Amino acid sequence: MIAEIIAIGSELLTPFRQDTNSLFLTEKLNELGIEVVHKSVVGDDRAELASVARIALNRTDIVIFMGGLGPTEDDLTRESVAEAMRLPLRRDPDIVAGLYARFAARRIKMTENNSKQADVIAGAAVMPNNNGSAPGQWLEGSYEGKKKVVILLPGPPVELKPMFMEQAYERLRAIAPPAFIATRVLKVALMPESECDSRCAPIYKEHNGVQTTILAGPGDIQLHLKARADTLEEAQELVDVLAEELEDELDERVYSTGGESLEQIVGYYLQMRGATLAVAESCTGGLLAERITSVAGSSRYFLGGAVVYSNELKTAMADVPPLMIAEHGAVSKEVAIALAEGIRKKCKADIGVGVTGIAGPSGGTAEKPVGLMYIAVADGKKTDVIDRKVPGSRDRVRFYATQQALDMVRLKLV
Ligand code: ATP
Ligand code: MG
Repeated sequence: MIAEIIAIGSELLTPFRQDTNSLFLTEKLNELGIEVVHKSVVGDDRAELASVARIALNRTDIVIFMGGLGPTEDDLTRESVAEAMRLPLRRDPDIVAGLYARFAARRIKMTENNSKQADVIAGAAVMPNNNGSAPGQWLEGSYEGKKKVVILLPGPPVELKPMFMEQAYERLRAIAPPAFIATRVLKVALMPESECDSRCAPIYKEHNGVQTTILAGPGDIQLHLKARADTLEEAQELVDVLAEELEDELDERVYSTGGESLEQIVGYYLQMRGATLAVAESCTGGLLAERITSVAGSSRYFLGGAVVYSNELKTAMADVPPLMIAEHGAVSKEVAIALAEGIRKKCKADIGVGVTGIAGPSGGTAEKPVGLMYIAVADGKKTDVIDRKVPGSRDRVRFYATQQALDMVRLKLV
């Protein structure tokens, strides 16, 4: 069965409010094996809403509307959905009485406009609202001769979530044919998206039962795998088999298959090897240490390090020879190596990392452009160093540098 979610509220079309309810609902529907195939956001406008409702009813089995159930002029969901389904509204006297009682309990006189919250689409079951005034509705009806489930929920998340879980979830389970969805995320560091796709596409073309989505960020790619089946084991098997084949292809480029971040994985390997880490950061200004220490328990392997922005501090904190800086420049392979080896010795760590680069947006030259970086990792036996030139903003360049550094440490340990 497939579902569509429609969020209603003009505020959701402004930059100030987001439709977060649909994330919750999507997760819950997926648990039931119901796939969400469309989501839309509509303002408080009756004609727009009725038109979106008709489109949704035409193409999906389950349509969930949320918001616009309140007492005010701009709360139009009931009217619009009734109009789209060509069904009348009837005012439910029990709900009206409940609304009066609710106001009386608070010793407030109820204004007449509240009564419209008691309007129920013909044939719908009322879902009482234990956390607010507007009740929800559950309707099993037909549209253009096809069976549909239509659900109306209030917009405020504190009202929607309990109402959905207590009054809609089990009902949906009862009507949705049993289906299970399994998901898996493979994370790949520092591979161009096009390369990743050209290596993976031939593999997932062989697995039609698994839906794959590739999400790329700076120096990071996530491959999301999703499969549906009649049992959870079958769905799991489908994603596991594909994940394994992708792992074989991408080999050590895959750093995580269980949702872990790169810094968590690095921490995991350091702990496994009983090794300690120290960093000397220039252009990342502490961002690398921030990422490493964001992992709980990082004190077991991370000793610390230094932010060595000035040339003087590169010398004072990581023993980089001033002559080396004068000869090669602070952003150079030599200085990156010296930073990694220097901080390793100073901190008595097993592994030392040195990062130097030009984050931009200014400060670049023809020879050393913005986005150029050198990153070195020293373990006392061998020092690896790489240079990269990354396009994009200062934030992007700095993040990429930390990604590169973490991945080099990971590769030293695997
Ligand atoms: P009701 O059905 O109770 O009238 P409503 O959405 O019409 O709900 P509003 O007063 O417009 O009532 O919204 C109440 C609060 O709920 C607002 O803060 C609104 O931003 C929030 N809200 C509405 N819809 C969503 C949504 N889809 N996701 C997250 N928050 C939402
Ligand atoms: Mg609203």
